Amino acid sequence: MNSLVYQVLWTQVDTAVLLVDNHKRILDSNPAANRLLEVRERSLIGQTLLQVTLSYDLLSLVTQVQSRLNPEEREVRVTRDSNPLILHVRAVPLPDESFHKQNRVLLLMQDVTELRRLETIRRDFVANVSHELRTPLTSIRAMAETLQEGAIHDGEVAERFVEIIQQEVERLTRLLEDLLILSQAESKAPERVRFALNDQIQKVVERFQSQAEKSGITLKATIAPNLSLVANPDQIEQVLINLLDNAIKYTPEMGSVELVAEPLAEGVRVRVSDTGIGMMSQDLPRIFERFYRVDKARSRHSGGTGLGLSIVKNIVETHGGIVTVESEFGHGTTFTVVLPCLPET
Ligand code: ADP
Repeated sequence: MNSLVYQVLWTQVDTAVLLVDNHKRILDSNPAANRLLEVRERSLIGQTLLQVTLSYDLLSLVTQVQSRLNPEEREVRVTRDSNPLILHVRAVPLPDESFHKQNRVLLLMQDVTELRRLETIRRDFVANVSHELRTPLTSIRAMAETLQEGAIHDGEVAERFVEIIQQEVERLTRLLEDLLILSQAESKAPERVRFALNDQIQKVVERFQSQAEKSGITLKATIAPNLSLVANPDQIEQVLINLLDNAIKYTPEMGSVELVAEPLAEGVRVRVSDTGIGMMSQDLPRIFERFYRVDKARSRHSGGTGLGLSIVKNIVETHGGIVTVESEFGHGTTFTVVLPCLPET
């Protein structure tokens, strides 16, 4: 290969490359390394590896490669601007045949931080789903065994057990439905059409009136007329359902829930406020995570799956919008959804 090819490779590859001397000082760095370690062009040169990465793991990798003269691969954690990064590093020795034995090392580095983060999310998700499935299944199995062992002949007990089995099956069904909605929301770009949002909100609110009445809660809606939106109507309905369902679920008797929908210069804003139990400020950053519940017992008791708000966030964000929350513990909560005007698909 000629030097032009090397030059193009050096400047164009996505792999960050550092050349270090036997004092672990950086002799050269390609543009990908400068980007990765966020320094201006060439300013890495002359600095020590430790100064730049704050990683003793990386240092010990280089020492090992310099003494054994064999290539090594390892994942190391480095710190850049006080952010931790996970790098996959391949260290290749460049042995010095001269008397000075200045063994240099070429470090080929790839940023795998995001990949590892996604893997952790996936692992946690699978663990959470398994846990959520196991709880009702264990209870169903225990009830069925007790019935089999004779309780089936005790009318009153049998009736109670069958009722619990039914409740657990309903919980499993809800969980599977929410998992399906979430996976659909995550996997495909929604087909968007123009529809009358004011009519849709009106219908959803009407559907929740009886649930609110049963819980002794007043449900009021102020909807601007002619609110038109380009979005996926089914998904937007799901957002409204989840927010209203939560507002009613987490508001005690005598409380109230209010929905306000209004146009913005370039979109619409829907606010769902309640006078319910509210949340502490430290919980707010986590409530949009899958399966995060402030009060596990309360959520389970009222039939929650812990997925409602993650579905809301996902749908709103795939529509280019944002959802925010304000809450005061013991006083109430307001969720605000802002959706932009988008072109039809
Ligand atoms: P769940 O199925 O448990 O309701 P969500 O994802 O819909 O799951 O909500 C996550 C958590 O956020 C709930 O468990 C609850 O603790 C809290 N939460 C959501 N909405 C409200 C609300 N309107 N008032 C108080 N807490 C709420």
